[in-house]
Amino acid sequence: MTNKNFKLYFIGYFILFGIVITLISSLINYKLHLIEIENSIKKYAQEVSSSRINYILKPHIDKMDDIVSAIAHDKTLVDFIQTKNSAKEPELQNLFLTMTLAHKSIMHARLLDADGNEVIRVNRANEQSLPYISKDSQLQDKSLREYFEIVSKMTTQQIWHSKLNLNIENGKLEVPYSPTIRIAMPLFKENKFAGMVICNIHSNQLIDSIEDSPLFNLYIIDKDGYYILHPDRKYSWNKYTGVKRDLYEDFAQEAASILAKKTTGRNIYAYALDDILNNEDKAILILKPKEKSIDALKHTNRITTIIVALLSLFFSIPLAIYVSRSPTKLQQILQKSNIELQLFSDIIDKYVITATTKISGIITNVSTAFVKVSGFSKEELINQKMNIIHHPDTAKESFDDLWKTILLGKEWKGELKNKTKQGDSYWIKQTIIPIKDEKNEITSFMSVGVDISAKKELEILALTDKLTNLYNRRKVDECLFLEVEKSKRYNNPLSVIMIDIDYFKKVNDSYGHQTGDSVLKEVAKLLIANTRKIDCCGRFGGEEFIVLCPDTNKDGAVVLAEQIRIAVEEYIFETVEHLTISLGIATCEKTDDMNSLIKKCDEALYMAKAQGRNRSVYL
Ligand code: GH3
Ligand code: MG
Ligand code: MG
Repeated sequence: MTNKNFKLYFIGYFILFGIVITLISSLINYKLHLIEIENSIKKYAQEVSSSRINYILKPHIDKMDDIVSAIAHDKTLVDFIQTKNSAKEPELQNLFLTMTLAHKSIMHARLLDADGNEVIRVNRANEQSLPYISKDSQLQDKSLREYFEIVSKMTTQQIWHSKLNLNIENGKLEVPYSPTIRIAMPLFKENKFAGMVICNIHSNQLIDSIEDSPLFNLYIIDKDGYYILHPDRKYSWNKYTGVKRDLYEDFAQEAASILAKKTTGRNIYAYALDDILNNEDKAILILKPKEKSIDALKHTNRITTIIVALLSLFFSIPLAIYVSRSPTKLQQILQKSNIELQLFSDIIDKYVITATTKISGIITNVSTAFVKVSGFSKEELINQKMNIIHHPDTAKESFDDLWKTILLGKEWKGELKNKTKQGDSYWIKQTIIPIKDEKNEITSFMSVGVDISAKKELEILALTDKLTNLYNRRKVDECLFLEVEKSKRYNNPLSVIMIDIDYFKKVNDSYGHQTGDSVLKEVAKLLIANTRKIDCCGRFGGEEFIVLCPDTNKDGAVVLAEQIRIAVEEYIFETVEHLTISLGIATCEKTDDMNSLIKKCDEALYMAKAQGRNRSVYL
């Protein structure tokens, strides 16, 4: 990714982040607002219902109750009931007329006697016209009316309310409809029913004043689900008008619970009007939010949410550009470092011979350089033991030391001779590092190596005699010095055998220098074949050889010298066929140094020559 891409990436990322946060917060905000709207609607519903019930219905009914109660308790009426003095009738008529005159909503005000006969009746044609007293001839027997039957059976003087219904005149519904409630109070003489006061109250104004609010449609239903009031007035009074309108049409979900006076569904609020009307209607006031108003509120909420979201997004862009600066910079640095690291690791992989192994020595990974130098493929190496590349020349003891070191958690450094898949050898300067976990326990090993084959070759060349491949004089001197020191320090025996080919000059003279060289090579091979690995065989100069025998005393050296001598004597050389050697043997004493030891060998050899050659002499 380029730097510009990083910038775009982070800006995009932060804008996306902003969008997600905005969307989530907007959604939450929207939902919270919906809850708030619902709570507000509930609160409004309570306010609207309370205003309709407590400020319209209740005062109106209370007022009518008070009027009826006032007439029933009027002294003139009380006296009339007690005395039945018909002379008082005009005064009573006047009382009823005055009351009716004072209250336009009273359509009829009547006094019934104990038998249900109208005694006084004041009528009014409509709310605008004046009331008048009915003539005696127009007074009727109301004993069979339901209201008389109920009130005449009342035992205490209290107010009675009829159902709210439409006024019926001469057996027909009065048109326009005239909603009416009858309010009555029984009268008693010596604790016996003696008649009643009853007023027909025109309730059109009352019902109509319970009009809809801007937020709600208002309904009043009776206990059977008939509408007393419906927002569409043609459905009001449907019990009487016969206009069909089922409660379920308006309240599909909630009708049953409304009638059962249980909690209604969402947003529908019902209030019992029992306490106020106190009649058989058992009316219920229902508030149903107007869809349009709710939609308007929700729409406003949606618009607000969208505007806030857009504003948030609008501000999130410059903010995203600003906040993306720092991570962009960091990312760029990181990418640069990554590239460098990759380059570095590629170089290491290509040029450094690395391998990781389990604690058991099973290879888990190798570098390309390892693959290249070992001749194995990566697949051939992984899951194999590291000893797949061990060279047989490398002594087992070297690995014992290696494992002992690394299993102690220490780093091991050394030079190892390995072998390739093809069997060739190569030298590695190796560092093996134990890898530990947080508990300081070794989990694996990592080996880092450098191919030192070329250097080793040079080293070997520098210490090897070119003709015979034995150690050269320099190396022999080096070994001799070390072995003498070791022998004296650890008190180990050390013997040295000096070898000289007998009459070698003759070989050169008779067969030529090249044959002489071949003989030297063959003798060298015989020396290697007849000595131990720990013995050091070298060309001491010309046709003289030396064998250093650590841990070998005089007897051992004598046996070895004889073995070599016989081997040469019995060997059939390519051209010259038979040849012998003379050997001088010496062992290292406490007082010896390398020079005195060589001198002793030399003298022994001289003796061997002097005694007739083809023999070994210990001095
Ligand atoms: P002896 O030791 O039995 O007394 O007799 P010799 O003939 O071996 O005598 P000497 O040790 O004096 O001779 C050594 C000869 O070895 C001399 C030299 O020409 C020959 N010589 C030394 N180095 C080489 C070499 O590298 N190649 C060949 N072909 N000859 C060598
Ligand atoms: Mg010689
Ligand atoms: Mg010789």
